[in-house]
Amino acid sequence: MPAEVSQRIDGHRLWQRLMDLARFGATGKGGVCRLALSREEIEARAALVNWARSIGLKPSTDAAANLFLSLEGRESGLAPLLIGSHIDSQPTGGKFDGAYGVLAALEAAQAISEVPERPRRTIEVVAWMNEEGSRFAPGMMGSAVFTGKRKLAEILPVRDRAGVTVEDALKSVLDAAPDIARRPLGFPVAGFLEAHIEQGRTLQDLGYTVGVVTGIQGKRTFRVDVIGEESHAGTTPRRARRDALTSAVAMVDALQKAMWDEGDTVRFTIGMFEVAPNAPSVVPGKVHFSIDLRHDDSTIIERLGNAIAGLCDSTRGKCDVAVRELLYDAPLQFPEGMRSHIAGCAERLGISHMRLQSPAGHDARYLHYVCSTGMLFIPCKDGISHNEAESIAPADASAGARILAEAAFELANQ
Ligand SMILES: [Zn+2]
Repeated sequence: MPAEVSQRIDGHRLWQRLMDLARFGATGKGGVCRLALSREEIEARAALVNWARSIGLKPSTDAAANLFLSLEGRESGLAPLLIGSHIDSQPTGGKFDGAYGVLAALEAAQAISEVPERPRRTIEVVAWMNEEGSRFAPGMMGSAVFTGKRKLAEILPVRDRAGVTVEDALKSVLDAAPDIARRPLGFPVAGFLEAHIEQGRTLQDLGYTVGVVTGIQGKRTFRVDVIGEESHAGTTPRRARRDALTSAVAMVDALQKAMWDEGDTVRFTIGMFEVAPNAPSVVPGKVHFSIDLRHDDSTIIERLGNAIAGLCDSTRGKCDVAVRELLYDAPLQFPEGMRSHIAGCAERLGISHMRLQSPAGHDARYLHYVCSTGMLFIPCKDGISHNEAESIAPADASAGARILAEAAFELANQ
């Protein structure tokens, strides 16, 4: 029975849908700009719903515009199995980040729908709202509110650069498809499987077709505000200056040294640095900068992250400093049962696989808090992602979908 499901995966159909979906928000350089809740994403959602309906899946959505496409199971009243990812992209994104996971899930659901016996549980293909967080920050909004990690009321007032709120953008997405059933936000889920492109080059370099994801790296983000005093560059002697830039540079230096590790496993980034008033003849009065800290090990990320405020304070000189932690997502491990289930499916299908940790965050992070969750990666060329040049091989896309179909079919029968 199981092998029958994966044999029905049609790699050409999957590839064609990937190319068709990539037309919504297509950029000149072969990439995609399909920001969350945008016109382009509304059109892409409509295409997904059309494909789903044509193969007998029922679309539904919730107050966060998460999109579900359900393949009814044989037994009613059981919590469904969810499979999917996201279809929003970065402004200069590629065709496959997120879209692969949704369309591989759609292909898996179609393959499962074609075998004579339906699985016990309903299988729902899901496209989570705003994973990327580039139009409305932060990302993974849909999965965060679905799992109760954040409240809907917290995300509704968030604005994009043009001043549009999430609330208004959600309304335009939901109003564009009034025929799609609405359901309550958050419901019991039996499990979640997410397929995704690796966005790194481990699989390519080591020559494996699929990665069984062991867990997701932990992440902490901070905002540092350094307050000095604006003064005249020509008349203010050094001893009288409260130069926010000089203090900030000392902080950055101390932080870089403290975060340095022999093994090169700490990911420490100051990606944003703003000086005010940013005028050539004014001693800087204010600096604000960002910190993005990531590590696999919870004790290390805790220790390093907890040291940040002290390091900034001890190097602030004559300025004041405020360090605010914006996010703390601890490193997580997916359940071993889920990992060995995915690896077992790959083994039976004769698809080469290895285990690897995900350095990037995914919607699976939040689902992991409420149900048994697993992820699989397929290679992406040279590890290039969040880039219009993002590329995958059709054979790998098909192999990942075959494993996803097998794994989902078995889980939905439990
Ligand atoms: Zn993604």
